[in-house]
Parts: sequence; structure tokens; C-alpha cells
Amino acid sequence: MSRKKSSLQVLMVASEVAPFAKTGGLADVAGTLPRALSELGCKLCIVMPFYNRFLEGMMVEGPVVENLPVPIDSRVIGAEIYRGQVNEAIDIYFVRRDEFYDRSYLYGTPKGDYFDNCQRFIFLCRATLSLCPAVEFQPDLVHCHDWQTGLVPAYLKLLSGDKDFWAQTASVFTIHNIAYQGQFGAELFPMTGLPGSFLSVEGMEFWGGMNFMKAGIVSADVLTTVSPRYSEEIQTKEYGHRLDGVLQAQREKLFGILNGADYEEWNPETDSFIAANYSRENLDGKTICKLNLLRTVKLPERIMNRPLLGVISRLADQKGLDLLATVMEKIVGEDVGLVILGIGDERYQTLLTEMAERHPEKIAVHLDFDERLAHKIEAGADIFLMPSRYEPCGLNQMYSLRYGTVPVVRATGGLYDTIRDFDPKAGEGVGFSFTDYEPEAFWDAIKMALSFFYKTQTWQLIMKNGMAMDFSWESSARQYLALYEKAVDSKRKRVSQIRKAKSKARKKL
Ligand code: ADP
Repeated sequence: MSRKKSSLQVLMVASEVAPFAKTGGLADVAGTLPRALSELGCKLCIVMPFYNRFLEGMMVEGPVVENLPVPIDSRVIGAEIYRGQVNEAIDIYFVRRDEFYDRSYLYGTPKGDYFDNCQRFIFLCRATLSLCPAVEFQPDLVHCHDWQTGLVPAYLKLLSGDKDFWAQTASVFTIHNIAYQGQFGAELFPMTGLPGSFLSVEGMEFWGGMNFMKAGIVSADVLTTVSPRYSEEIQTKEYGHRLDGVLQAQREKLFGILNGADYEEWNPETDSFIAANYSRENLDGKTICKLNLLRTVKLPERIMNRPLLGVISRLADQKGLDLLATVMEKIVGEDVGLVILGIGDERYQTLLTEMAERHPEKIAVHLDFDERLAHKIEAGADIFLMPSRYEPCGLNQMYSLRYGTVPVVRATGGLYDTIRDFDPKAGEGVGFSFTDYEPEAFWDAIKMALSFFYKTQTWQLIMKNGMAMDFSWESSARQYLALYEKAVDSKRKRVSQIRKAKSKARKKL
């Protein structure tokens, strides 16, 4: 793996980037990976939409480019480009077009997706290509994240000529979640501006419609996903969401790289959101955090001496909320507390609220997106639950480990890769996992965790094992950089071969 400083120019494109706008782990990755790459020498820029409501109060200047021409459909419409800073070294450009991005949510309301997501994200992809020459940033490589940016690799491959600004630019496409694919009717295809031949089985055609994720998968030079286990799972029928065949066909260019955790933000020793700081060497502060959490969510202080379980999650099927709902009936039969922070599908919001109303002395539910409370839960809970149906990487289990909050997880995707079961004989392991997607299996794993809770010394050992684990970004960033370098090298070789062949052909004429 490369140890020397890189000089690559890399453009990241994502539909959400922390701290500017976030619905989940994608934003954490898009906000943190650039910083880790910058430490390794890369020159980075990021592009994301200008979501008016989310950028209020953020340091954003501009417009730095006015009326940037962006082709969409058969028209060319204007975007205003604003600029912010991830740190001193990394600029982030925001693509502003209020009809597309001035909304209450990023992708849709609790009732469903926005009707015009197709246009919204074609616009983002095409604006990205217009923006780079305008701000004079010529990337060696563009790294695109999830379906919202899936058309960028297709544009690079199909629309750039060999003398174009983009001719030498390689592309990487990262799948953060294969379930969200950006599928739209074929009648909208002309809006993309891509050649008609791309609406084919080899291109972005998918069951008669079009699929942005597939466009990224088939077009990018390199494909990655966010854990080694998930890179294998998505090639199977069970996890592939009907793209398993496509991914099998592309497996030579598919790599699994585990996400890192941002320990500048998630560190109990320095966290300013929590009631007291603490460390692996001195856990005293965690007790203060637990009391503070109980008071914050209005659960009885009696639970100070009982296990307090925590959940922070998007309320979506993926996260195993049906298992959680079934198991909650059993949890309320135990002498424990449960605090849940989440936002998402209406039916889960209703279900969880009803449970909390029936058992206010045991269950607290906060239907909100609240970063401060998320930190308080990581610090104040004893056990963290993640019964995901699938989990590409998962970040909360990594944060939980660092905060000494013992994870109980379903062994899938990144949860499989990061959580080793506690083995009492060896004194090793950091959590408790289960395999079958069944409430009984989940409940058994919770009971196993509860059975160790009162064995104070053993429990502290499990906590400390977890707190010693290190998922910092540096090692993941090095793996990305190695892939970038390979992709850029082979792209340059290919372009130079094409150019040589063309000039040979010209000489012959
Ligand atoms: P996913 O990206 O599938 O939602 P991850 O575990 O990868 O799941 O990342 C979730 C991120 O979003 C974590 O940083 C988590 O703390 C945060 N998060 C999720 N829901 C909430 C919420 N309701 N309030 C605050 N933070 C949340």
C-alpha cells in the first residue's frame, strides 16, 4: 500500500455531506473521507446540492459562479454555485437551484420520495461536470457516492471526447446502500442527455425502466462498497436487490473498504455534547452521562442500577424495526430501560410512540434527528441495539464501541466485520451478535448481554475491549488511495493508447 504523499486531484460528489446536510452514514463518509485523503496529500474538492434549509447558519459564500449553464432535457438551465470549506484545505461547492433543493427534506417526506428526484439528481450530476472547468479544478479522479451521483461516471465515459477537459479523468463509484437505486420510468431517459444505446441491458436499463445505481456500476472504472462482507453479500440474491447479477458480472472491479469512524467528533474524552467526559482508563464520567440521559429523556432514575438499552436509527425496514417491535414486548417484561432516537417511516413512528405511551416508565422514544441526543445516547446507554436486516457498514456500532456501550447486532455486512462476540473463556470480544433474522434470535442475544451486565468486572472487560478498537479513517483512506492510483494509471494508459492509435490512423491517410 502506498506510503508516499499523493499528488492526486480528487473530486467527491455526494448528495449529503456532514456537517452541511445529513440523513445517515453517507454524509459522515462524504464529510470525513476527504479530510483523511487530504492528510495523505490528495487535493480535494467536494460537490453537493445547495439545500437552503440545511445551510442556514453555515459559513457559505457566493455565488462564486453565477448562472452556470447546465444541460438537462433538451434545455440548458442555470445554477448558482456557492462555496464553503470542510477545512482550510478542502473547498466544498454547492449547486443552487431552488426549484430542486429548497425543500423540507433531502429526498422525500415521511410519506414518500419527491416526485422529481430524477430531475433533481440529473441536475446535480450535470452541474458537477459544468462546475469543474468554471472553478478551474481539473480532477484526476471523480469519486461518486450512491445513486444520486450514478450518472457522473456515465457522463465521463460516454460524453467526454479524448481531447475533452475530462478525457483523462478516472471514476470511482461507491455503493453505500444497494437498496436505494434511483429507479425511474424509461420515458424520462431523454432528460439525461445520454446516448440512446445506454438505455440497454449493458447500460442503465433495468426491468423496462432506468436505474441510476446501475449506471454508476457499469460505467465507473472502480466500484467500492463500505465493508468487505457487504461487497460479497450484494452479489447474492438475498442482498443484491436485483442488482446481484450485474454486480457479479462486475466483481473484478468491486472492492469492500470498511468505513472509518470520525473520532474527532465521536470521542468520549472530548465530546462536548455529553454531560461528562470519560476514557477507557477512567469510566467515572459514563455514570454521569447515564444519569443525564435518563433525565433528558424522562426515564426514572431507578434505571441507574439497571441496564439501559439504546437505539439510534433511521426508521426504515432495513434497520430491523419489525424485530425490535416484537422484542420490545419482551424488553418491557425485564427490569431495564430503552431509549430510541429515530425518524422515518410513519408506521414505525406510530408503533414506537404507542409502545412508549404504554410503558412510559421503561421506554422513551424521540422522533427527531438530533445529533446532541445521539451523542448522549452513545455515552449514557449500557447496550446498543442494531438488529439490521442488512447493514452495508454501520457507524453507530463503531461509535458505541468507543463509548463503552456494548453492541448487540445482527451479524450482517459491516456489523459482521466489526463486532466480535464476547468469549468469556478467552476474555476477548466486544459485543453480542445473532444470525437468523428472527425475533427469538435477537432476544437471545439481548438476554446474553443482560446476563453479563451484573457481572461488573466482566462487563467492564467487554466495554474496555470495545473501547480499545480503532476504526479510524487513516487505514481506509489508504485503501481508497491505492485504488485511486491504480484507476488513474490505467485510465491514462488507455487514453494514451487511443491517442497513439488515432495518430497512427491519421498518418496512414
Ligand atoms: P445509515 O447510513 O444506514 O442510516 P449508519 O449507521 O451508517 O446508518 O449511519 C447513521 C448515522 O446517522 C450515524 O452517525 C447516526 O448517529 C446518525 N443518525 C441516524 N439517525 C439519527 C437521528 N435520528 N438523530 C441523530 N443522528 C442520527
